[in-house]
Amino acid sequence: MSPRPTVLVVAATDSSGGAGITRDVQVLADFSVDARCVITAVTAQSDSQVSAVHHIAPAIIRAQVAAAFETGRVSVIKIGMLGNRASVDAIIDSLPQDVSIPIVLDPVLVSTSGGMLLDAGGRDAMRRNLLPRAALVTPNVPEAAALLDADIASNEAELIEQAQRLLQLGPQAVLIKGGHWSGAEAVDLLVSRTYGPHRIPSPRLRATKRGTGCALASAIAAGMASGMSLLDACGYAKRYVLQMLRRQ
Ligand code: PLP
Repeated sequence: MSPRPTVLVVAATDSSGGAGITRDVQVLADFSVDARCVITAVTAQSDSQVSAVHHIAPAIIRAQVAAAFETGRVSVIKIGMLGNRASVDAIIDSLPQDVSIPIVLDPVLVSTSGGMLLDAGGRDAMRRNLLPRAALVTPNVPEAAALLDADIASNEAELIEQAQRLLQLGPQAVLIKGGHWSGAEAVDLLVSRTYGPHRIPSPRLRATKRGTGCALASAIAAGMASGMSLLDACGYAKRYVLQMLRRQ
């Protein structure tokens, strides 16, 4: 029997259970994909605030990565909250150079409640050293602007332009999530080195569930680990998150 697809999740805890590693592992289980994990930070959070963050020591982050890879094959790496510069650097140094393992990078910067989830040095290191290694980076509209030090895009043409500029920072593909925008549809925009922009629309729901960004990136990673193309995995993941929001 061939081993089940496995995603290595690099993430933080969220004591409310809404986002972070709890959400990632739930999604991977829904896709019958196994999870290995590297914890970068422990956060004390409710749905309304981030009250404390404890960053895990870089040596412990490196040891978790090494042990996760010793355990066996990893199909895809999914990276969520990193927290600070030291954690970004520890992940960059310790991940294998094997480019055949795709990296799905959710550039988590700020929680929905407004808590800072990555410091300025971490954002810089992510932009310079992690984005170029990603198969896919999945910012929301404010994160795309922050990664580019630009104003928040106010229409789809500006968003496509920002997606193209993010692509120039080195990832193979960029998916900008339109959930933070208004309008009847929530359109995600996918651009890659070989195609795009590709629109992935869905009806906009009046839902406020947290952890949708974590869920989308994990669902994409799970789809890719199960053999889907990047484009199919993005469409499938979008439908999965829509169902998750409808269930709330
Ligand atoms: N907390 C942790 C640990 C996360 O990993 C994330 C997102 O990845 C968040 C909070 C942010 O989630 P939300 O925007 O739903 O608050």
